[in-house]
Amino acid sequence: MQSQLIELPMNKKVALYTLGCKLNFSETSTIARNFEQRGFKRVGFTDRADVYVINTCSVTDNADKKCKKVVKEARRFSPDAYIVIIGCYAQLKPKEIAKIEGVDAVLGAAEKFQLIDLLDGFVRQKEARVIASEIKEANAFVGGYSINDRTRTFLKVQDGCNYNCAFCTIPLARGKSRSSTVEAVLKHAQEIAATDVKEVVLTGVNLGDFGIVEGKRQFKFFDLIKELDKVGGIERFRISSIEPNLLTDEIIDFVAHSKRFVPHFHIPLQSGADAILESMRRRYRKQLYADRIAHIKAKMPHCCIGVDVITGFPGETEELFMETYQFLNELDVSYLHVFTYSERANTAAVAMGNVVPMKTRNQRSKMLRGLSHKKKRIFYEQNIGKTATVLFEHDVQNNVMEGFTENYVRVRAPYDPLKTNTLQQVELLQINQEGLVDINILENSVLKIQS
Ligand code: SF4
Repeated sequence: MQSQLIELPMNKKVALYTLGCKLNFSETSTIARNFEQRGFKRVGFTDRADVYVINTCSVTDNADKKCKKVVKEARRFSPDAYIVIIGCYAQLKPKEIAKIEGVDAVLGAAEKFQLIDLLDGFVRQKEARVIASEIKEANAFVGGYSINDRTRTFLKVQDGCNYNCAFCTIPLARGKSRSSTVEAVLKHAQEIAATDVKEVVLTGVNLGDFGIVEGKRQFKFFDLIKELDKVGGIERFRISSIEPNLLTDEIIDFVAHSKRFVPHFHIPLQSGADAILESMRRRYRKQLYADRIAHIKAKMPHCCIGVDVITGFPGETEELFMETYQFLNELDVSYLHVFTYSERANTAAVAMGNVVPMKTRNQRSKMLRGLSHKKKRIFYEQNIGKTATVLFEHDVQNNVMEGFTENYVRVRAPYDPLKTNTLQQVELLQINQEGLVDINILENSVLKIQS
C-alpha cells in the first residue's frame, strides 16, 4: 500500500502497549522510534497521551477481552485520544476489533509500520477505520529491536512462517517466512553494541528458518550466528526458540564453543506422541527430538533446555498423553512451557474430531506444570556449588537484585548499584524459598569479553 508523508502537529504524545511475545515487544519499540523520529514524545500509559497504539496477540487466550480492557483503560486516562490497534489479533479479526467501543483504527500486518502516514494526522472520525490487506500482502520485512530494562534487547531477525501446524494461527496473522539480511542484522547488532545493553535475544516467529529474503533462501541461520559471534561490545547472545528439525548439529557444536552464544535452547516439542505430532503436522518425530537433546547434553552438560508442550490436542487419549508425560519425564530438559490447547478459528485442528474435554485438558496441563517444577528444581540443584556468570538487571525490589546465569538459572543477591547491568562471576549457593538461587559474588569478577 502506498502512503504519503503526513505533516504532524508538534508536541503530540504517544503511548504504546504490547500484548504477547518478544517479537511484538521488538516491533512496538520500532514503531515507538518511528513516532519519536516524527516529533512525538513517548509517554507512559497513564500520561494522557494523544495517540495510543495497542499491539495485540492472537495466541493469548481471551485476546478480545484483553484488547477491550486496554482500550477502556486508555479511554479512561485520555478520553479524546486516538486509539490504534495493530498486531496478530488485528490482522485476524479487524472488523470485530473495529466494533470495540473507543477504537479509532485497526491496521493489519502489511500496514502497521506505516501507521503514522496512513492515519491522516490522527483525527478521530465517527466510525473506526480498518486498513488491513490480506495477509499475502505482508511480504516486506521490517527489522528492529527493543531495549527493555537496558540490560537485554530482543532483536527481530525473522518474521512469518511457512509451516502449517494444525493448531496455529500465526501464519495467518503474520504471513510467509521472511528475514533480514545478515548485513542488516549486523548493523542493528552494532547499534546495540554502542548502547549499554549486554545481552541480545535473537527473535523471530520461526527463527531457525532465518534466511529467506524476497522469497528466496539466501542465508542459513548458522551463517547469521557465525557473523554475530564476531560483533564486539555485545557480551551475550541468546537464541530465543528454535524448531527441533532446524536445530542442526553445526548450530549446537558452534554454541558449545562460542564465548558469546550462551548454553540455553528453547525447543518446541508440542507432543511426545508421534501420532499427535503427525496430526499436528509437526515436521519431526519424538526420536529426532530425543536425539537433539542427547547431542546438546553430550556437548554442553550444563546447557539449559526449555520445552513448549500442548495438552489436549484433538485425539490426545489418556494413553497418548501419558506417552508425552513419560517421554518428558525421562528427557534431560530443564523446564516446560505448558499450553492448554484451545480452538482457533480457521485452523485445521478445529475441524478434527475426538475433542478432549476442557476439564481433562486442564488436568493434563496441571500434571505437566508439576513435572516442569520438578525438572527445574533438579536443574537448579545440578548447578549448586558451581561458578557461573550472571548479568544483573536494573529492576530492584526490596533491596534485592536478580539476574540470569548464562545457562538461565535465575539468581538473586543483595542490591549493589555498582553491579547492575554488569556480568559478575558468582558461586551458586542454594535454592531459596522463592525458588531462586542465592549466590556469592566472587570478588573482582567483572567480566568483559574482549572483541
Ligand atoms: S512452526 Fe508451526 S507453531 Fe510455529 S509459527 Fe510456524 S505454524 Fe505456528
